[in-house]
Amino acid sequence: MAKSDVTLRRVDVYDEVKPPLCTSCGKPINPMERAVSFYCPNCGVMLIWRCSKCRVQMIPYKCPNCGFEGP
Ligand SMILES: [Zn+2]
Ligand SMILES: [Zn+2]
Repeated sequence: MAKSDVTLRRVDVYDEVKPPLCTSCGKPINPMERAVSFYCPNCGVMLIWRCSKCRVQMIPYKCPNCGFEGP
């Protein structure tokens, strides 16, 4: 049983849109990492982005719109 299932994947297709910035550390979110995004629980206007690093380290974020700080 010599089955060849070699799958070549090319990841040279990148999003044209700019990556979102992490609300906690201000660094651009890598499309490959498992970042989370959610709307501010206080005002519901701002979309909060947290990179995987800030999520793991529980770095607090601050909403740029209303100043709400949360874990
Ligand atoms: Zn971050
Ligand atoms: Zn807010």
